Amino acid sequence: MRHRIAVVGSGPAGLTFARVLHRHHHPVTVLEREPAPDARPPGGTLDLHEGLGQLALDKAGLLAEFQALSRPEGQAMRILDVDGTVLRDWQPRPDDRANPEIDRGQLRDLLLGPLDVQWGRDVTQVVPGTREGVVVHFADGRQETFDLVVGADGAWSRTRPAVSSVTPHYTGITAVETSLDDVDTRHPDLARLISDGSVAVYGVNRALVAQRNSGGHVKVYAQFRAPLDWHTDLDLADVEAVRASLLDLFDGWTAPVLDLLRQGTSFVHRPLHVLPVSHTWTHVPGVTLLGDAAHLMPPLGAGANLAMLEGAELAESIAGGPEDLDEAVRAFEERMWARAGRWAKITTAGLERLVSPDPAAALALFDQVQPA
Ligand SMILES: Cc1cc2nc3c(=O)[nH]c(=O)nc-3n(C[C@H](O)[C@H](O)[C@H](O)COP(=O)(O)OP(=O)(O)OC[C@H]3O[C@@H](n4cnc5c(N)ncnc54)[C@H](O)[C@@H]3O)c2cc1C
Repeated sequence: MRHRIAVVGSGPAGLTFARVLHRHHHPVTVLEREPAPDARPPGGTLDLHEGLGQLALDKAGLLAEFQALSRPEGQAMRILDVDGTVLRDWQPRPDDRANPEIDRGQLRDLLLGPLDVQWGRDVTQVVPGTREGVVVHFADGRQETFDLVVGADGAWSRTRPAVSSVTPHYTGITAVETSLDDVDTRHPDLARLISDGSVAVYGVNRALVAQRNSGGHVKVYAQFRAPLDWHTDLDLADVEAVRASLLDLFDGWTAPVLDLLRQGTSFVHRPLHVLPVSHTWTHVPGVTLLGDAAHLMPPLGAGANLAMLEGAELAESIAGGPEDLDEAVRAFEERMWARAGRWAKITTAGLERLVSPDPAAALALFDQVQPA
């Protein structure tokens, strides 16, 4: 019997889940709030790890296409002191495919492929346990019923309340994102600073990270410890006011690094929220969560990777697993909770060290994870 399955959200988790089910010829309804794939800028580059995101792409039959699109050279990483001294400069070996980078937009298009996403479907509530099944309510007043609803709808999931009352909390660390376009032509000095991958600078309770995307696009993240309402006297829509405020916060840092903020085109405020480490719930038949909806954690290179592997694993266990759908979901949840709990601990401790009163802690963290 074919179960009626819906996934809420077409991020890395939802699309990987749908794509692997599609590979196994299992129908799935993909419900996405955004009106079109390009309705919003897709965000920065992602590094996909061999045993996580790349494994998920393999399960979706997309690994070769990923390898053709991704940027192994993007694994290059340079760390500077706030005075501009180069502290570390890691270059990947030519054959290093451990964590290549890919633009989010490219990854989304790769996963989308033949999938028939229902765009503009804004889910407001998921109600399990009715006689007909799990009822999904939409902002336009409509409702539909499924046997299984998978919430892959990110940090502020509307599916999550069906299984858990937990909501994300603020980490005490905020990020402001800006971008540079056409960096090689328009900002050659910054292009040299960033090289093929990333440059990161760690100061006292502050960090500045710039990452090359494809096509000469660069994303810059200014991270700092601050109360959630740090911007009460600031109009976040006023680009020059935000720039001045950031230059003030990073005052004293070397001029070439501050140029990353001086040349940025617009600023997006991204306070870092997380779910509690090891977020689990009492299993609810007919509903589960994947990715950030299940385990939002600090952005230290794990979230999309976990989201994709979970999507692939749940799809495989539904497609090839026991006839009892609920049994497959329950077994998957146990596995997801154990793995995500380990990564939540690692990334939570990592964020504390990267934006910390002691910049040497950040350097020591990189020395632990980067090849000598
Ligand atoms: C600055 C930054 C850098 C990062 N870098 C990395 C990295 O290098 N590597 C890595 O692994 N991770 C990284 N992450 C984390 C990663 O972005 C997330 O963990 C990942 O996107 C989670 O995927 P997801 O599919 O669970 O959720 P999302 O990507 O948030 O997707 C959720 C989808 O659900 C849709 N949706 C939301 N609400 C509704 C609704 N009510 N109805 C219908 N649809 C809805 C949204 O529109 C969206 O399409 C980074 C995060 C940030 C902020």
